[in-house]
Amino acid sequence: MSLELRVRIRTQQKQDETSNLVHLVPSPLRLVSSHGLFLWKAAPISSIANILSSPIEYLKGVGPQRGDLLKKELSIFTFDDLLNHFPYRHVDKTKVNLINEIKPDTDFIQVAGELISFEIIGQRAGRRLVAQLRDKTGYIELTWFQGINWIQKTLHEGHYFLVYGKVSFYQGHPQIIHPEMESLSVEKLSGKSFLEPIYPSTEKLKSKGLGGRQIGKLTEVLMAMLKEKDIPENLPDDILKPLKLADRFTAYKQIHFPAATAEFDNAVKRLKFEELFLAQLRISMLRSNRHRFSKGVVFEKVGDHFNEFYKKYLPFELTNAQKRVIKEIRTDTARGKQMNRLLQGDVGSGKTIVAILIMLLAVDNGYQACLMAPTEILAQQHFKTVSSMLEKINVPVRLLTGSTKSAERKKILKELEEGSLKILIGTHAVIEEIVQFNNLGLVVIDEQHRFGVAQRAKLWEKATIPPHILVMTATPIPRTLAMTAYGDLDYSVINELPPGRQPITTVHRYETQRSKVMDFIRMEIDKGRQVYIIFPLIEESDKLDYENLMKGYENVKAYFPEPKYWISMVHGRQPLQQKEMNMQRFIQKDTQILVSTTVIEVGVDVPNASVMVIESAEKFGLSQLHQLRGRVGRGADKSYCILLSGSKLGNDARERIRIMISTGNGFEIAEKDLELRGPGDIEGTRQSGILNFKLASIVQDRPLLEAARNMAAEVLENDPDLVSAGNLRLKNFLQQPAQKVIWSKIS
Ligand code: ADP
Ligand code: MG
Repeated sequence: MSLELRVRIRTQQKQDETSNLVHLVPSPLRLVSSHGLFLWKAAPISSIANILSSPIEYLKGVGPQRGDLLKKELSIFTFDDLLNHFPYRHVDKTKVNLINEIKPDTDFIQVAGELISFEIIGQRAGRRLVAQLRDKTGYIELTWFQGINWIQKTLHEGHYFLVYGKVSFYQGHPQIIHPEMESLSVEKLSGKSFLEPIYPSTEKLKSKGLGGRQIGKLTEVLMAMLKEKDIPENLPDDILKPLKLADRFTAYKQIHFPAATAEFDNAVKRLKFEELFLAQLRISMLRSNRHRFSKGVVFEKVGDHFNEFYKKYLPFELTNAQKRVIKEIRTDTARGKQMNRLLQGDVGSGKTIVAILIMLLAVDNGYQACLMAPTEILAQQHFKTVSSMLEKINVPVRLLTGSTKSAERKKILKELEEGSLKILIGTHAVIEEIVQFNNLGLVVIDEQHRFGVAQRAKLWEKATIPPHILVMTATPIPRTLAMTAYGDLDYSVINELPPGRQPITTVHRYETQRSKVMDFIRMEIDKGRQVYIIFPLIEESDKLDYENLMKGYENVKAYFPEPKYWISMVHGRQPLQQKEMNMQRFIQKDTQILVSTTVIEVGVDVPNASVMVIESAEKFGLSQLHQLRGRVGRGADKSYCILLSGSKLGNDARERIRIMISTGNGFEIAEKDLELRGPGDIEGTRQSGILNFKLASIVQDRPLLEAARNMAAEVLENDPDLVSAGNLRLKNFLQQPAQKVIWSKIS
C-alpha cells in the first residue's frame, strides 16, 4: 500500500514539473491543453498498465533496502527510471591489461589476477582495506575507504578477480581506489567478446554492492523481462526511415548492451534524436497553435502619427535590417493573431527606434502601448528619448517607475484607465496589479533576459485580448538556444549595425600597466571624450567588492587631481535619486569619468563616451563584457575597451579575454559563451528548464537539433493536430501523462 502511494506521489510531482510550461507561455497553452495534446491533469496511474511503472524494489535482485538506496542516491524509483539510467561507458570484457603495462598516464584499466592478501589498516578516517592482486607480470594494490566491512566479505585469498577502475600511483606503485570487482572463473575470460556497461553510481551504492558494474546486472534482468510492446515506437516511420534511426526498443537494448560500438552509437543517436525531436515538437506546437487559434488585436493600418514621425522627425535613415524587422512585425500584428516575438540584435544595432515605431503603429490603430525596461536608469533614458522624439507629433508619453511620486502615479493610472495616455514607459512597477490599461495593444520588453517568465505571463491579464508582445534581447542568443529555450516565440533579427560605426579597439592590460592606462584616459578626455571605469558587481553583502570600488574611486581621483576633471560614481548601494543624479551628470557631460558597477551594464546610451575600462575583467562573463563594451562606440569617434586584469589568470578567463579581443560580433561571442559555460548557466534559461536533456547537448549535437527542428516543423505543417495515421504514435505518446519519458524529466 505505502509503496504504491509513494509512486503515485512521485508521478504527481512529475506532472507538476511539466506543468511549469503553463507559466512559460500561458495563453497558447490553455488552448493546446484543450486540444488534448498536453494533459496537465494526471491520469490515474492504474490506467497505465505498463510494466515500466513498477516500483524498483520489485525487480529481482533489488528488494526494499537496495530499492530505498537507489531512490535516494540516483532517483531511480521505477523500472522505467532504471531503463533510463544510461551507462557512461562500456568496457570490453575480453580486453584485459597486464599489470606491467600500466604507465603513469594510464587512465582506466581492467586487470585480472589472483588475490594474494588483504587487510584492514589505519585508524578512523585513515582506516582502509588494502588488497594485493597479482597477475603474471606484477602486483597492483586495491584500496577501499568505504564499505570496508561489506567488501571484505566478498574477498577471498587465492581467488581470481576481474578488476576495473581508475589507476593512480602511490609511492611509485600502481593502485586502484574503490575498484569494481567481479570474481572470475578462468574459463569466463575466454568467453565471447562483449561490451559491458558501466553505470554512474555513488560511494554509498558501491558499498552496498551496487557499483557501476553491478547496476548493469539489474539492467540485464530488466531488459530480459521487457518485450517490444513495453517500449513501443513513438516516432513515425516517415522520420525513422530517412534518418536511418533504430527503432525504440532496439535503441534501449543497445544503449545498454551493444554487441559492438557501432550499435551503441546508433542507439545513442536514436535516443538523442527522440529527445530533441519531442522537445521541438512540443515547443513548436505552442507556436503553431498560437498562430492558428489565438486572438490578437489587429493593427491594420499605418496611420498619421507613424507617417508624420517617419517622414519629418526620424533622426536618421533606418538600416535595411531595421526596415525588414519593422515589416515583419507589421505583418504579424495585422493578422488577428497574437504576436509573441523575439527581436534579436547586437548591442547598438538600434532596437529602440524599432520599438518606438511599432508603438506608434499601435497608437495609430487606437491602442495603448507600453515599454518595459529592466532598470530605473534605462527606463528614465528610454523615457527621455521617446518623449523628446514624440513631442512634436503630440503623442502623450509617461514614465512610471518605483520612484514615481504618488500624486503623479495616481494621475498616470487614471489617464491609463481612461485611455488618454497612449504610451507608458517603466520598470517592473508597470506590471503591478493596480495598473489597468484602457486598451493595451502592445508590450515591448527591452533587454529581456532580466525579465522573469512569470512577469511576462502577467501581461496577458492586462486586456481581454492579449496584447502583442515584442521581447528585445540584451545580447544575441546563440541559435541553438533561441531554438530551444525561446522556441515558442517568433523571431526577428537585426543583423546590421548603423552605418559609420568604427570598430572598437579592445586590448588587455595588467594591473602593473595601470598608470599607462590612466595616461591614455587623460589624453582621450582632453580631446573632449568621456570614460567609463567599471568594477565588478556589488552584491549587497559583498564587502570586498564595495571596498575595491571605493579604493578604485579614490585611486582614479588621485590620478586626476586637477580641478578641470570631474568624476562621478554610481553603484547599487546608493539611494535611487543619488544614482540617478550621478548618472545624469555624466550623460550631460558635467563629469568626464563615470566610475560604476555593472548597474550601467544594459542599454545606457552616451554617444560621447569613447573609452570603457573594465577592472578585474577576469571576473566577468563573456556576454557581460560584450554588453559593457557596447556602451562605447556609439558615436562617430574611435572607441576603446581596456580589459584590466591581475597577472594570474585561469584558462577560462584567459580564453574569454582572447575572444573579446578577437571579435566584436555579439553573435559569435554568444556562441563561444555557450560553449564555455554550457547551457545551464546562461541567464534566463534556467527557469525554462528546457535544456536539461538527458542525452543530447545543444552544443555538441547541433546538427541533430537542426534536423529535429526541421522535422518537427514539417510534421506540424502537414498535420498540426497529429491526426493522420502516420502520426498516431506520436499523438498517443504525447497523451500519456504518466509515461515518464524524457520530456517529463524536463522541469
Ligand atoms: P540597442 O540595439 O543596443 O538598444 P539603441 O537602440 O540604443 O541600440 O541604438 C544605439 C545607437 O544607435 C543610438 O544612439 C541610436 O540613436 C543609434 N541608431 C539607431 N539606429 C540608427 C540608424 N539607423 N542610423 C544611425 N544611428 C542609429
Ligand atoms: Mg537597447
